[in-house]
Order: sequence, then structure tokens, then C-alpha cells
Amino acid sequence: MPPVTKPAATTDKYDYVVLGGGSGGVASARRAASYGKKVALIESTGRLGGTCVNVGCVPKKIMWYAADAAERLRNAASYGFPDAVNSAAPVKFDWDSFKPKRDAYIKRLNGIYDSNLMKEGVEYHVGYARIKDPNTVEVTAQDGTKYDLKADYIGITTGGRPVIPDDKDVPGASLGVSSDGFFDLPSQPKRVAVIGAGYIAVELTGIFNTLGSEAHIFTRGETVLRTFDSDIQTTITGWMEHTGVHIHKNSNIAKLEGQKGGPITVHTKQGESVEVDCVVWAIGRRSNTDDIGLENVPDVKVNKHGDVIVDEWQATPYKSIVALGDVAGKALLTPVAIAAGRRLSNRIFGPEKFKDDKLDYSNIPTVVFAHPTIGTVGLTEKEAREKYGDAVKIYKSSFKALYFSMLEEHHKEPSMFKLIVQGPEEKVVGIHILGMGCDEIMQGFGVAVKMGARKQDLDDTVAIHPTSAEELVTMR
Ligand code: FAD
Ligand code: NDP
Repeated sequence: MPPVTKPAATTDKYDYVVLGGGSGGVASARRAASYGKKVALIESTGRLGGTCVNVGCVPKKIMWYAADAAERLRNAASYGFPDAVNSAAPVKFDWDSFKPKRDAYIKRLNGIYDSNLMKEGVEYHVGYARIKDPNTVEVTAQDGTKYDLKADYIGITTGGRPVIPDDKDVPGASLGVSSDGFFDLPSQPKRVAVIGAGYIAVELTGIFNTLGSEAHIFTRGETVLRTFDSDIQTTITGWMEHTGVHIHKNSNIAKLEGQKGGPITVHTKQGESVEVDCVVWAIGRRSNTDDIGLENVPDVKVNKHGDVIVDEWQATPYKSIVALGDVAGKALLTPVAIAAGRRLSNRIFGPEKFKDDKLDYSNIPTVVFAHPTIGTVGLTEKEAREKYGDAVKIYKSSFKALYFSMLEEHHKEPSMFKLIVQGPEEKVVGIHILGMGCDEIMQGFGVAVKMGARKQDLDDTVAIHPTSAEELVTMR
């Protein structure tokens, strides 16, 4: 664990004190320090990197790569490797030995975050932070010692945590784990139930199913990813079912019965009962604002999810208090937290040219690491029609990527690419893509949409052949 650099009370005044060492906090603190400011960052766990590094994007993507490897192995026989396993004999994934290897990599990343903070000159305090007044933060170190840090600016970047229903509301709910618990699983459950229908539910269900667990997902609606474009919802829901995921639609959980570590029976209010070895709740997150001293700065308000209410400059009613990243409740994504944090520090601590710097939250591209992956930027068809009415035109292509040409029909993954344009100029206002490689394809098209691309600009771009991405520049 890194040393507590300020173990005792200090009379020093900081330019910036940051609460939380996740994606947003670290980015904002480092950027402020790069301008020569005196910056302290406080992290309660002693592990830098926050949700993304420890229990989010990074270990999740590593598990997605493991699942992807299993798929490639299964397909290898179709590509002329007769000794490779085929789909009739599923490959066995050695979860037990892979998990410690994954954890060791995350630990290395924590160390890299430590040294990057140090290199930039940010003081790293291991402890729990609470705001005492608009210019004072109280730190409780891990040994219980308390001390105050005075600051011109205080950054709230305390992120969020997964929600699990109270046992009073859903009896036995605590028998399940959250996404944090998913990363603690020492062994692969044979049968698993995931509850929810958002990013995390879809990604974790996909990993379990592809690695060979019997996977059940309980959703309140007809489809997963209900905030996504309708064609994405129906295509991914259909393909998940096709690949063997048991989707329990229109289900509300009544209770869980059994014991931690399984077996656990999931009972729905609709009368279904399913026995599994592990239940994962993936029903959203709540911001970490319940115990950070907001009662001492009453003009900082939170909404019903506990998110700090900020304006477009990440500012609260106190000039000295700002909030960003997941705790600000908008687009809960690592690059959003990083971009908001850097721009905020540019604006407050940087040169004159950055005096108006802030994050534009429109047209943020994002990817769901499902099987296959899903990329999206801009408006859904429904949102576009609400905004632009009849001026909206849809271009859509459903196809099978060339990679699947050598595979049996049953194993051919769908690709669905959709362009949403509006007005006589056919300005692109939304792109929704699902299929092999969409995670990597999306970034470049995100740039095009951000630059205000028209359909004609895509048409004027010569295709790269043979790829899936070329479909987006050849649509008629
Ligand atoms: P966090 O990273 O949560 O950091 C907050 C930090 O503050 C934590 O380290 C916490 O310990 C600390 N803290 C809290 N309270 C205090 C206190 N009082 N004192 C001191 N320290 C405190 N995003 C993507 O872009 N791509 C993905 O693929 C992706 N996958 C995800 C997968 C999962 C399973 C999850 C849960 C999230 C995923 N996300 C992904 C979202 C991403 O992880 C978050 O948007 C991002 O981590 C937010 O960064 P943050 O700095 O706002 O908060
Ligand atoms: P989401 O907000 O994406 O999804 C929560 C889901 O839970 C909704 O689909 C909702 O489904 C369902 N739900 C809510 N309450 C209940 C309930 N009581 N019972 C059953 N289902 C319920 O949250 P996640 O937790 O999946 O992820 C949090 C955020 O983290 C995401 O929004 C995303 O920003 C970020 N993230 C990003 C990733 C990426 O970039 N690849 C990956 C993972 C997370 P419905 O309303 O349809 O019933």
C-alpha cells in the first residue's frame, strides 16, 4: 500500500483537494498538478483506479477476451484445424487459475496509477474524505487518525456503487452478489442468474454463456438494453436466445431462497422458479454521496439517485466545490469522467486559452461488450423521430460478416448497421451497429458524427474491403 503522505494535521493550503481516486479524480488531479498547482487526492480503499480499473471496464474486458477466445477456439475446426475443438465439444475455461492472473494484472495497474500520481506531483492520501465546509476536507486515515486539508477548490469524484435490493423488499436478495461480487468469484458457476437488462447485465450474461455456464437473465421488459435503438434491442435479444441464454422476460423478482454459494432459487412474481448456483444483481448504481459531509454544504444538492447536481461547468452553487464523473450522474463512462476531469482542471487551473473549457455531453460514442459487440452514438430512431419528425430517414443493413462464411448456418452471428439521418442535407444524427468488430469500428464513426458528417460524406469515403465497417459507407 502506498504511504500516507500527510499523516497528521496540516496548515498547508491546497489549490485543489480531490475526493476519490477513480478515473475522474485521478485525471482531474493530475491535470491540475501539471499546471504547477498544489493538489491532494484522497482515496479510501488504498487502490487507485476506482471502479473502472478494479471492478469495471478493465477486468470485465479481460473476461470478455476470454469468452471471445472460447468462441474462436470453437470455430477453429471450421477454419481447417481439424484437431481443434468444435461446438459439439465445448472448450473448458479454467476460471480458477485465470482469476488470480487477472487480479495480478489489476494490481500492477494500481501500481502504475500510484507512480503516475507521484510523477505528476499529486499528494496521495489513503483515507476516507468528508467535506467539513466549502474549503475544508476532513480525512480519516486507515488507522483512525483524522486531519483536515484546506483547499481553494474541492472536487467530488466519489463515483458510485452497485445497487442490491434490501432483503425487506426482496426476501433473500442478499444471497445474490453485485458486479463487484462477480469479480470475486473464485470459480465459474455452472448455472447463473443475472437480474437486470442494462450494460452490466448483458455483458456479464454474455461472458457466462460464452464460457459455458447455463445462463439465465431476468428482465422486466420484452428486450434487454431498453434505452438503446429498437433494432439493437431486438437483434441482441434474439441472438442471446439463439445462443442458449434463457431470457425470462417480463419478470419481477419476488424472492431468492437458498444459501450463499448456492444453490439459490430465483422466484418471480409471475410464478416462475429457477435454481442456479449464483445470482448476480445488475439493476443499476447509486452515487457515493450519502456520507461525504454534504450536510455541511447544504447548497450542494443531490437527486433521488444520490447524484450531485452540477451545471454544464461541473459546478455546484459553491464556487469552491465541483463534481464530476459517475457521481454527477450523466453518462457513466470512464472516458466521460476523464474528459470532464481534465477539462475542468484546464478551465480552473490552466492557461487563459482554456478559460471556457468544458465537456460537451452530446454524441458520446459507447460500446456494450456483448456477444457480438454493440456500438452506438447519437440519437435512437425513436429520439430522432421525436425531435425531427418526418425529416428523419433510416438506412439499415443486416448481414453476416465474412468471417462466418466458413461456419455452419447455426453459428453465423448477425450484424445490424443503422444510420439515422435528418433533413435535406441528411446529417447523421445517430449510428447504431451490432456485430463482430463493432467495438473497434465505433470510435472512428464517433469522430465523424461529432464533426457533423452528412450521409454524403460517408458515401464519399472509399470503402475498406473486405470489412464489416465498409457497410457504413456503402448504404443505399
Ligand atoms: P469511480 O471510478 O467509481 O471512482 C470513485 C473512487 O472514489 C473510488 O475509488 C472510491 O473508492 C473512492 N471514494 C468514494 N468515496 C470516497 C470517500 N468518501 N473518500 C475517499 N475516496 C472515496 N465504462 C466504460 O467507459 N467502459 C466500460 O467498458 C465500462 N465497463 C464497466 C463495467 C462495470 C462492471 C462497471 C461497474 C462499470 C463500467 N464502466 C465502464 C463505468 C466506469 O467504470 C465508470 O464510469 C468510471 O469508473 C467512473 O469513474 P469515477 O472517477 O467517476 O468513479
Ligand atoms: P443500467 O442503467 O445500464 O441498467 C440498469 C438495468 O437494470 C436497466 O436495464 C433496468 O432495466 C434494470 N433494472 C432497474 N431496476 C430494476 C429492478 N428493480 N429489477 C430488475 N431490473 C431492474 O445500469 P448498469 O448497472 O447495467 O450499468 C451502470 C452504468 O455503468 C451503465 O449505465 C453504463 O453507463 C456503465 N457501464 C458501461 C459499460 C460500457 O461502457 N461497456 C459497461 C458496464 C457499465 P429495465 O428498465 O429495462 O427494466
